[in-house]
Amino acid sequence: MTSSDTADSVFFPPFDTCPGCRAAGLTVTAAGDQARFCCPACRACWHVDLGWVHQVEP
Ligand SMILES: [Zn+2]
Repeated sequence: MTSSDTADSVFFPPFDTCPGCRAAGLTVTAAGDQARFCCPACRACWHVDLGWVHQVEP
């Protein structure tokens, strides 16, 4: 594993707009050991895993 960048926070959103509806202001929540990014506009929740964004059940 190469790590040239310093991670300041694991909960920093990797994107700042919703992949579904492009709304800004995603809310970060912790679900178990995962971080979820929930959209306040369309209520979709997203999980980022290894750089891929997956939609998850709220
Ligand atoms: Zn949305």
